[in-house]
This record gives sequence, structure tokens and C-alpha cells, in this order.
Amino acid sequence: MSTATSPSTVRVRFCPSPTGNPHVGMARTALFNWAFARHHGGTFVFRIEDTDSQRDSEESYEQLVDALGWLGLDWDEGPGVGGPFAPYRQSERLDRYRDAADRLVESGHAYRCYCTPDELERRREADRAAHRPPGYDGHCRDLSSEQVDGYESDGRPSVVRFRMPEGESFSWHDLVRGDVTFPAGEVRDYVLVRANGDPLYTLVNPVDDALMQITHVLRGEDLLSSTPRQLALWAALRETGIAEGPIPAFGHLPYVMGEGNKKLSKRDPQSNLLMYRELGYLSEGMTNYLALLGWAISEDRDRFSLQEMADAFDIGRVNASPARFDFKKCTALNADWIRLLDGDDFVARLLSFLSEERGVGMDQMRQGIVRDAAPLVQERVETLGQAVDMLTFLLVPEAEFEVDPEDAAKMLTADSRPVLVAARQALESLDGWSTEAIEAALRTALIDGLGLKPRVAFGPVRVAVCGRRVSPPLFESMELLGRERALGRLAAAPVTDR
Ligand code: GLU
Ligand code: ZN
Repeated sequence: MSTATSPSTVRVRFCPSPTGNPHVGMARTALFNWAFARHHGGTFVFRIEDTDSQRDSEESYEQLVDALGWLGLDWDEGPGVGGPFAPYRQSERLDRYRDAADRLVESGHAYRCYCTPDELERRREADRAAHRPPGYDGHCRDLSSEQVDGYESDGRPSVVRFRMPEGESFSWHDLVRGDVTFPAGEVRDYVLVRANGDPLYTLVNPVDDALMQITHVLRGEDLLSSTPRQLALWAALRETGIAEGPIPAFGHLPYVMGEGNKKLSKRDPQSNLLMYRELGYLSEGMTNYLALLGWAISEDRDRFSLQEMADAFDIGRVNASPARFDFKKCTALNADWIRLLDGDDFVARLLSFLSEERGVGMDQMRQGIVRDAAPLVQERVETLGQAVDMLTFLLVPEAEFEVDPEDAAKMLTADSRPVLVAARQALESLDGWSTEAIEAALRTALIDGLGLKPRVAFGPVRVAVCGRRVSPPLFESMELLGRERALGRLAAAPVTDR
């Protein structure tokens, strides 16, 4: 299937509502729109759908901007960048929606509905009892002007409702799902503007797609059922001259499933995008994994960069069946990306992670420690967070050093006391303090001298010195830590007499 668009005309939008934390499904939608725009040399518009003042928040808006920035999904038009259709926050565009609603009512494509919530509920009840299909029954579609005057002089509030064309089915060629049809009569007249004057998503989303000359709407499958309504509204927007261009092509991206084949929900901790940054996932790993939620660069290749995705992206090759969010796979892919970084880059990532995410002040000394120790951990970690946890024993001021209580309970038992004593004695008399010298001395004292297996010998030493069982290689760690601190920790190890 071809999308048959000449390069410069593609205009797509990512238009989230700023409620709650940015989630992975949302980021996947942003990524696919971005890749589509970049692939076709088009324009990626970032629009904020913040007309619901009850639910939207400034904090959530800032997190969205932050999240796109972190992922490296740069937008061509939108907040902070501007553009020919500014402003890009719907809360700043209310006059446009009022105008569109007025024109739709004047032209008869929409009408004022005076039904009260109570009346609607009573009629819905009756419909249910009579097994009639649900939805608005068209009560106010064709009120006479006397009836309207009567309601108005009673001071009845009214909503604006869209008049769905009768007897028309809705079909489109979905860029992901192929031909989709909704039979006539399934979609009832729906509300565009609330009684208090607030315009709804049903109105503002297509109106802005029209005003911003959007050519392709790529969004989640959860919105599939709103597409027939939007197609009908689009036809009306064109007839009234509000929309000048053609109706955009639609493509609905597959659901993202979580554990147990349920839709990944906002409440699912794994769905929180910014959690991944806090844990020290690389944006490269994250965008790569998000891309796999419905797309693949080829059958035999999982790892690819954002640029490679943009070069190869083909909306016609997005898989229509649900994608599963696999936290383990996401993490393993991130580990690959960490190992691929060159050494200096890895150090730079660690330093900014430490200061930005962990709030650790990075003075010259700490920077030096991270630089020296980074090669010991790069191959061993899946996230920057794990790397930092492994290096904490080097970075903490001596007075704040602590042994992980669980690891202490396991490894620093009464049996470990003679091991730690022997280790300390062997190291005290050591000439020079190098990895090799430390290793030789400890092997002689513990393996040869006490006849212990390496695991039994070095386990307690590791926990005493590094504070945990998962650490960088022991002898290198001790060299970096320095003689004085290493010996001090061996002496102070919190051995329990159990
Ligand atoms: N603001 C809508 C949402 O976040 C946008 C839906 C669409 O892409 O049309 O669900
Ligand atoms: Zn009504």
C-alpha cells in the first residue's frame, strides 16, 4: 500500500491531553508520527489538547514537553517553537472553536439541544427497556422556532449537538488496518459544545486538524470508534468552508497490552514513561523499544537507531494486531545500548544521570572516580541506575558508607569473621596497592591459607568493602577505593553473630 504523498505536504500531529503522567502508549504514538513526518520530509506538529480545565494540568503539560525532549522527538511546530498556525495550545484557541460551532449551527450541521440530563436519562431508560439501540434519540433535531423560543425564554441551558447524516455508512482506508466500515445508523448525534460553552474533544480535535492542514492522523486504536463521527464532521467543516483541504488519511496504531493480555493501563507502573528516565534507561533504548510496539525494521533485527527508523519507516508495515509491552525485553535492549556506547559517552551519561536524576553534586573528585570506575560496570549493567548503585561505595563519604542490610545478613555471618580478619592482615602488610597485588595477597591468605572456595572467601570481603553482593570486580574495586578505606571497611564490617 502506498501513502501516495509528495514529500513536503505531509503534516502530522501529536496532540495529547495533559492529564497525568506521560505514558508509553502515548510516547509510541508520538514516535510513529515523528518517524512518519521525518521519513516523508514532512512536518511534525505538537499540539496540546487542554480544553478540559477540570482534568488538565500545567505539571502534566511540562512533563509532556520534557518527555518528548528526552526521547529526542523534535517538533517543527508547537509549544516553544511556534509556527504558522500558532497558538498550539487549545486553551488559547477557544475563539476558533466558538466560531466553528456557530457556523455549524447556522448551516444546520449542528443544532442546539435543550434536553436536560434527567430527560435524557429517562428516555435512555425507556430505550433500554424497549431494546432500542442506545444513544441520543434526536429529540431536538427539528425543533420549531416556537419551541426554541420557548426553551430560550425559560432560560433552559443547551448543548450544541452534531447532526449525523442519516442513512450513511462510514468507510475509510485505514493506513494500518485496511478498509474499515461502520454501518449507517450506528453513530448518533453527539455533543460538540457543553452547556457552559466549553467545546469538547469531538469538536476541537477535527477543527484543529482542519485549520492546521493535517494530512495524516496516526493515533491509537482506542480512538477508532470516534473516526466515523470525525469523518462526518469533516464533511460538514468542508461544506461550511471551515476546512479548506482534503479529509486526512487515518491510521490506527495497535493497542499496547500489558501483563496477562490486558490493555496496558495508566495505573500500571510500567506504563509511566518518565520512570524509565529515572531508572536510567537511555533514550536510544527507549525509542528503539517503543518502535517495536507495532513496527520492525526487518524480521531479523531488533536494534536500530531513531534515524534508522526515520529512514525506513513505512506506516503500511505497521502491524494491526495488539503489541505486548515486555518490560524484560525493553530492559535487555537498553542493556545492549549501554554496552554499545563508547567509554567517554558512557561516562558522560553517568555524570549527567548522577547530577540530574540523583541530585549528586559532581565535583572534580567524584568525576574522576566515575571516569576511573565506569569501565568496570559498563558491561555489567542494564541501566544507568544500576551502574550508579554499583559505584555508590566509591562515591559516598566514608562516614555515610553503609552495607546493604539484606546482603549483610546473608554474607556477614559469624563464619565470615575469620575471613575478614585474615583478609585485613594480608592487606595491611602489602607493598603497593594494585589490583594484582591485592588479588595475589587475598588468594594466598584465603584460598591457600584458610582453604576456602573463592565464593566463600571473596563474598564477605565484597559485601564488607562494596556494601553489596552485586558490585564491580572486587580487586579492581579495592584498588580504586584505596588502602585506607578498604581496610577501614573490613575492620568495621557489621558481622552478625548468627
Ligand atoms: N487528545 C486526544 C487524546 O489524547 C488526541 C486523540 C487524537 O489523536 O485524535 O486522546
Ligand atoms: Zn435534545
